[in-house]
Amino acid sequence: MRFLSFREGGAVRSGVLSEDAVTVRPFAGAVSLQRVIESVEHGNATLATDSPIPLSQVELLAPLPRPSRNVFCVGLNYRSHAAELAARGFNGAKRAEDLIPPAPVVFSKVPESVIGPTAVIEIPAASSAIDYEAELAIVIGKGGRNIAAAQAMDHVFGYTIVNDVTARDLQKRHQQWLLGKSCDTFCPMGPWIVTRDAMNGNAARVRLWVNEELRQDGNTSDLVFGIEAIIESISAALTLQPGDVIATGTPAGVGMATTPPRWLKRGDVVKVQIDGIGVLENRVV
Ligand code: MG
Repeated sequence: MRFLSFREGGAVRSGVLSEDAVTVRPFAGAVSLQRVIESVEHGNATLATDSPIPLSQVELLAPLPRPSRNVFCVGLNYRSHAAELAARGFNGAKRAEDLIPPAPVVFSKVPESVIGPTAVIEIPAASSAIDYEAELAIVIGKGGRNIAAAQAMDHVFGYTIVNDVTARDLQKRHQQWLLGKSCDTFCPMGPWIVTRDAMNGNAARVRLWVNEELRQDGNTSDLVFGIEAIIESISAALTLQPGDVIATGTPAGVGMATTPPRWLKRGDVVKVQIDGIGVLENRVV
């Protein structure tokens, strides 16, 4: 199943996408997808729905337009990405192995950075080095602490797409990554959440284009830390909650990995596609 959030006549609603992706069956009232996820995880699978609406008549929002807390992100989690950064001497590295961390590198983006699948990415005045990162994101269903890898999939509600847009200059200037990762509009998300039964999150092709030029083409089978290991690691420190979003890292091909770097500029259109989920397409202004 595919769960989504949308705006219809000024109201923010959530619903289920039809099999043919032509209509949305909205949940009754203005129930948020966050509440739907909590309900489903509490065993209430029979939420009331209204008559279907054509998808073309609604404005798609991020499935969790304002997550309950920061979006968790994993850095340096593809071997291919570690290799391209090592080739540029990132953090003094000489080889990919120098950058592959012994435990997941976890940082976050503030909830207010989230935008919808077709909303615009705004270049902040403070930065002149805007980069993109195509990522599969996990959406947590059942919360928990100290979740063992073997049980981790029971806690996955589904998957969505995140573009972990980054101001590389701010990321470096402030040492901690929060500001460079959390600028307003820097977390395009969507277009919907695909439930975990409908795809294999550990074998999904992840691609990104800038103005139709293919820049990233990876597969989550290349993750250094797969979905289960990420959930085990994060939940060893804190209690994961329903609706938590965890972006799993980006494959090779980011703008900072070329000489000279190729930063996003006004007018660019960034498209992220993950097979089995769909497409994000965001213009840069
Ligand atoms: Mg990232």
